[in-house]
Amino acid sequence: FYVEPKRVAGPQFELSGQEARHAIKVLRLREGDEIFATDGQGTRYTGTVQSTGKDSVVAHITQKEEKPAPDPELVLAMGIIKKRDRLEFAVEKAVELGASKIVLFNSDHTVKTNVRMDRVENIIQSAMKQSMRYWLPEVQLLDSVDEVLDEFENYTVLMAHEKVDAEHQTFDTEQDILKGQKFLLLVGPEGGFSDREVELAENKGAELVSLGEYRLRAETAAVAFLARF
Ligand code: SAM
Repeated sequence: FYVEPKRVAGPQFELSGQEARHAIKVLRLREGDEIFATDGQGTRYTGTVQSTGKDSVVAHITQKEEKPAPDPELVLAMGIIKKRDRLEFAVEKAVELGASKIVLFNSDHTVKTNVRMDRVENIIQSAMKQSMRYWLPEVQLLDSVDEVLDEFENYTVLMAHEKVDAEHQTFDTEQDILKGQKFLLLVGPEGGFSDREVELAENKGAELVSLGEYRLRAETAAVAFLARF
């Protein structure tokens, strides 16, 4: 389960809202059952259910396990793609592959579309639980690649670009020492990055990265990019 950090107090934690309803109605948890919950901030609790209400499950903490924040820090920034299921697929896989943060941005070639952030947040939470991660990646919506580059100016910026020749690429995750580093991984939407965006990123020190000789769909590129780390 996901437990909001503010609902952990002393020797107890409390599941609320959707998590509590799922525990009661679907899993039919009862007093004495053992459950696991992460606060999304690096801690996982083992607990014994003490009481259940309509919208609440209170558990007594029997064990606490902590994990440090993901290292290196990987921020995946994706140009918003039109097809919702493809965007949501990329978000889910990014969590499974260890992204620390997910940024969705309107790029020059994004076809204007509304992103259902409530759905995206739910997907991130489910993927965190499914993949047994203890850290809940944040999600952020930005208006342009310019804003993304400004927001993450202290990061090593890698831009996936299908037009770059794989042989002339210097960045190599096998060789570089990655621990302690922060990376911003940029992936374009269906229509790719505009020349303006590529030039802007390069002027700000981004390295263009090839993900192989074939042109990948944006969501495949996101997965392939993260899987290199
Ligand atoms: N610009 C292309 C077009 O519309 O004809 C395709 C864009 S591709 C579907 C979407 C994004 O995936 C690209 O902007 C890039 O970030 C990434 N991508 C796809 N294939 C790639 C490759 N072989 N190497 C690096 N990046 C790739």
